[in-house]
Amino acid sequence: MHVLISGAGIAGPTLAHRLSRLGIRSTVVERSDGRRGGGGPIDLRGRTVELAGRMGILNEVEAVRTHTEGVSFVDADGRTVLAVDPAVSGDLELERDDLVRILHDATRNDVEYVFDDSIRALAQDDAGVDVEFERGAPRRFDLVLGADGLHSTVRRLVFGPESSFARYLGLYSASVGVDPGLGRENRGVLHQEPGRTAGVYSYRGKAAAFFAFRPREFPGDLRETAQQKKLVTEAYAGMGWQVPKLLAELEAAEGIYADAVSQIHLPSWSAGRVALLGDAAYCASFLTGMGTSLAMLGADALAEGLATGDHRAAFARYEEAFRPEVTRHQAGIDESAARVVLPHAVEHAI
Ligand SMILES: Cc1cc2nc3c(=O)[nH]c(=O)nc-3n(C[C@H](O)[C@H](O)[C@H](O)COP(=O)(O)OP(=O)(O)OC[C@H]3O[C@@H](n4cnc5c(N)ncnc54)[C@H](O)[C@@H]3O)c2cc1C
Repeated sequence: MHVLISGAGIAGPTLAHRLSRLGIRSTVVERSDGRRGGGGPIDLRGRTVELAGRMGILNEVEAVRTHTEGVSFVDADGRTVLAVDPAVSGDLELERDDLVRILHDATRNDVEYVFDDSIRALAQDDAGVDVEFERGAPRRFDLVLGADGLHSTVRRLVFGPESSFARYLGLYSASVGVDPGLGRENRGVLHQEPGRTAGVYSYRGKAAAFFAFRPREFPGDLRETAQQKKLVTEAYAGMGWQVPKLLAELEAAEGIYADAVSQIHLPSWSAGRVALLGDAAYCASFLTGMGTSLAMLGADALAEGLATGDHRAAFARYEEAFRPEVTRHQAGIDESAARVVLPHAVEHAI
């Protein structure tokens, strides 16, 4: 069996890793022209730590582990008004860049990676899937697995437009690497006003600025970095603390991560020889803290069934086994969760 995986974020390389251990060959196509960096610290929670152990990457993850000990809320002059230090958990936190690198390194010898390309069209029949690419020559695969994130191309081509499945949670978020001098090592420092939160998370001598705010209206899918920067900069006009410095760093940065905060709800994660996983299938949003864990655990659940070679049974089993866990985490998020990130009377900003 030879499968095509779209997306080399977290879910795609995890799936490729699990499949190669089962003797299934995969090709991963990634739209970026190399590993796509960006983002701040992310968590491996619960069973995901055990999965990282089974994948043989736990030592590498632990070596670059970050420790956010707590969060301090500061006033406009930078004075701490509240410090929250949660109990130590068994979760593993690391920078998203590091996890993407570790997963790629663990698979690059067994898996074909094609960067700087994207699926353009798909046509499936009883025996396989014909795939056309934006750049490369057409190829045929046994299965196509979409791990291409919140704005998945595979989902659009096979299941329909994003608007049919996306549930906007009323927030927009952005993050960008900034001068470590702007943060406090191993802490998040947040400054909040009604409808907008700005902060800095510091770890291992680095720092990432974090913005979460409620735009006046749904901003849509802003693909251009310049549009994203403009939206954030306008939303934070006139805010105190060190927000002007963070905005200056945002403006100067080449790469930022910015997106509307949404969930994806699909009635079925597969159609014929095509299946989805990770954010493409069931994005839960960063408000759950479970995005990375669900991406990896879903990849593991999907791979397990494919060992039999019967993709129909495998897809059914994947969904049956894993959907309850996804539903539980997605259900934990609603308007009230958004109020935790934007705790003041968010209505004032609508
Ligand atoms: C740059 C970036 C930064 C992030 N930062 C954070 C963060 O700080 N905190 C947090 O909680 N979550 C963050 N996330 C989201 C988090 O990574 C996901 O919620 C989670 O890990 C699910 O992983 P995934 O592999 O399903 O999706 P993603 O991690 O989004 O990976 C999807 C991959 O598919 C690629 N792709 C997209 N379209 C195509 C296409 N048409 N063809 C081929 N490849 C395509 C993307 O470039 C990306 O590499 C970030 C995501 C990205 C892409």
